[in-house]
Amino acid sequence: MREKFLEKNYPDNTIKQAISKAKAINRSELLKQEQTKVQNQTIPFVTNYNGKTKNISKILTNRKYILNRLPETMNLAKYKYTVAYSRNVILRNMLVKSDIKPKYGKIGSKPCGLNCYLCRRMIRTETLKSHANNYQLKMRDDISCTTNNFVYMIVCRICHLQYVLQTGNTLKERFRGHFQDVNTENKYKPISIHFTLPRHNKHDVTITGIGKTPTDVNIRLRTEEACISTLSTAEPWDLTKLLQGKEQ
Ligand SMILES: [Zn+2]
Ligand SMILES: [Zn+2]
Repeated sequence: MREKFLEKNYPDNTIKQAISKAKAINRSELLKQEQTKVQNQTIPFVTNYNGKTKNISKILTNRKYILNRLPETMNLAKYKYTVAYSRNVILRNMLVKSDIKPKYGKIGSKPCGLNCYLCRRMIRTETLKSHANNYQLKMRDDISCTTNNFVYMIVCRICHLQYVLQTGNTLKERFRGHFQDVNTENKYKPISIHFTLPRHNKHDVTITGIGKTPTDVNIRLRTEEACISTLSTAEPWDLTKLLQGKEQ
């Protein structure tokens, strides 16, 4: 072993010191330590966070006795279990990562800067937090009123409803349609349904770019769906949420 380290240009003194240090450790002592470690081991139960996962920790503690019922699982009952949340895999994989990294400070949602009709509604931010489940999303793209093919969020200034949508066109093009729906009080379009509620109007719309997607409409729709699920926002068919402004 010593020769192998010498071949890799490790100083002879360092190798000697390491070998004598290793030799000094008592073998039985080593084995004993390992055993204690296993007994106190905490096993993480890894899952994606959503509104329904809150009770898992309670179940893991209160129902651990079930493991004692079968000889095959009896051994597992001695461990402690803890719940660990991982980031939502679907969303992470689906949002496109820009090939060219923008210079520092350029990532995020922001107005196009040309003082267009959407600029004052575009939120300047690099993170986005779900009101429903506190999930925090860090942006990886540079999105403004003139970007196309991406997923975005509308937040109502009055009741703070969050609503995720996707577009293949630029936001400037897309919102001409949205605002026309509001103007004509279209009862079938989600944006129009919400922003024609009492005390609401189209000036209460704020927009935050979430992330770019490929041009393929199916991937964009699936990304939109993944964002809705991860951020637990209102869904297009969820009229109760869209109409919640009425209750206030
Ligand atoms: Zn603009
Ligand atoms: Zn509202």
